[in-house]
Amino acid sequence: MTTGFPPLDILLNHGLDIVSFDMGRYLIAASLTFAVVWMLRRTALKTRKIQTREATSADMRREFLQSLQSVFVYTIGVCFLIWGREVGLFYSILGEGIGIWTDLFILAAIIIAHDAYFYWAHRFMHHPKLFKTFHRAHHRSITPTPWAAYSFAMPEAVVMFMFVPIWQFFVPTPGWVMFTWLNFQIIRNAMGHAGFEFMPRWWLATPLTSWINTTTHHDLHHNGGFNTNYGLYFTWWDKWMGTEHPKYHAKFAEVVGRGKEQIGVPETALA
Ligand SMILES: [Zn+2]
Ligand SMILES: [Zn+2]
Repeated sequence: MTTGFPPLDILLNHGLDIVSFDMGRYLIAASLTFAVVWMLRRTALKTRKIQTREATSADMRREFLQSLQSVFVYTIGVCFLIWGREVGLFYSILGEGIGIWTDLFILAAIIIAHDAYFYWAHRFMHHPKLFKTFHRAHHRSITPTPWAAYSFAMPEAVVMFMFVPIWQFFVPTPGWVMFTWLNFQIIRNAMGHAGFEFMPRWWLATPLTSWINTTTHHDLHHNGGFNTNYGLYFTWWDKWMGTEHPKYHAKFAEVVGRGKEQIGVPETALA
């Protein structure tokens, strides 16, 4: 089918595939994370639930519907992206890898670049002049759930999507690297909104892992720490820019330490 407007042709001919891929990633990551949290909350780890407040079903419905709206925006975006590749504006996705080390280097680079893009785009969207239009919809979740992974207003979804064409303008990327990053991104996003801390107790105590974000980090951003903790995968930018929540480490220690006092030997028993 042709209409004379290539992006629309792509939408008409491939729209279903594009929607299925983006919606599928969201549904799988969000529902798996939701199920894992649901199960863990029935074990001794139930104290890892970060907030005492429970998200309501209205919260989850809103997060879900806004995420579907974002999938719609991404679908339109992908049609323009495919068209852009066809006319040579962006690099094509490489069917074959370049070589394993080069591929892994590109994978690391896309994750680091996306982390920087997210931090700055997110921070700009908190500017009072931009917040209402771009980012308020996402912050309606005070107690986020995994369904909030794509819960954006349409303008924010456009900002989130724009990283992909910018990246593909500069970097020819193997298909498997793109696929891996897209899945990594949605899983980390669903985890960040899980409202439940997954990381082990020692996570922030060693420089080997303390630079990798935890759920507590983003949960604080939604619940009171509004002008702090903008980061996505890593804590670097928040540290460098002085925007890390001052009580982040204390909050993490409190969440992962709950219930431990009953397990240890009571001090009176040692007397
Ligand atoms: Zn925010
Ligand atoms: Zn969020």
